[in-house]
Amino acid sequence: MYKQQVATKEMQLALVLEKKQQLSIRNIEINVQPGADQVTIAIDTVGICGSDVHYYSHGRIGPFAVNAPMVLGHEAAGTVVKVGSEVQHLSIGDRVCMEPGVPKLNSRASRMGIYNVDPAVVFWATPPVHGCLTAQVVHHADFTYKLPPQVSFSEGALVEPFAIGMQAAVKAKLQPGDTALVIGAGTIGIMTAIAAIAGGCSKVYVSDIVAKKLEMTQYYPGLVPIDSLSEDVSARIMQETADWGVDVVFECSGANAVFSSLADYVRPGGCIVFVGMPMQPVVLDLVAIQAKELRMETVFRYANVYERAINFIASGKVDLKPLISETYNFEQSISAFERAAQARDGDVKIQIKMPGGQV
Ligand code: ZN
Repeated sequence: MYKQQVATKEMQLALVLEKKQQLSIRNIEINVQPGADQVTIAIDTVGICGSDVHYYSHGRIGPFAVNAPMVLGHEAAGTVVKVGSEVQHLSIGDRVCMEPGVPKLNSRASRMGIYNVDPAVVFWATPPVHGCLTAQVVHHADFTYKLPPQVSFSEGALVEPFAIGMQAAVKAKLQPGDTALVIGAGTIGIMTAIAAIAGGCSKVYVSDIVAKKLEMTQYYPGLVPIDSLSEDVSARIMQETADWGVDVVFECSGANAVFSSLADYVRPGGCIVFVGMPMQPVVLDLVAIQAKELRMETVFRYANVYERAINFIASGKVDLKPLISETYNFEQSISAFERAAQARDGDVKIQIKMPGGQV
């Protein structure tokens, strides 16, 4: 067993987080030989996620600490270069994007369809698991999705963050014509707002205290920006909805101060979806929530939404291209991380182009 593992590893050029705040571009030993149900993918494009930046800046997220050099990145698209013996639906040369979390397939959670909360999930770039900012990766074929020709690698790499918005829209159980409020216009807030419109909302208000972040709403018909620094969000929502409230509030800011007033925006019998992750425990006004019999839903990553997300992009109903703030070549990937760590107000998604993806 041990011998076999060593034999399948090869040196691959990768972006390695050596330890907190120390990145290097270097060769690292990585397995590139697929097992029977796996494929090997030559990576073309990788998006930088808030979690990658957090590991870079702080060296840990909650209990997950970077104690050994780790390859970053989990938002990727590329080309299949090797196919395991039992894989039916993929061939060499297929353009694909990958769902970065792989559960135990016969686990209780997987059998229930909630594989995203399977305690056994192995997720790229979550210590000690290497991510995909490397020339090639091996991945489970069932979590590798073909991209239609009209979907670019760069859009393919955006499927992962968009999938969180899709999960939020699914959890909300949206009805055609619903109205919604998205609190927080960061990457995930924008993704959620786009998914809510695509999922049937007639109007989605997006609020943020940083006006610059709201500029992205101009590219998407149906999104209405609210600058919460200069305007009372609750008063505006009530004025716009004849004192009724929106059908759904998507909390995407994770900002502690927001939580105690969430019920104010929602109509009786409406829904609050918790997408953002606050750093500290928060205070909810439970009686205000009960008095309207609000439904509460939570989101942790996503399950069973990748194909739907790809279909939306392929059909032209969802255009994620405006969200790409800048693309760096792999040789500049450390600068790309330094830029991402600055968290500029106007940046939504920074991507890195790998040298050998288009094979
Ligand atoms: Zn991500």
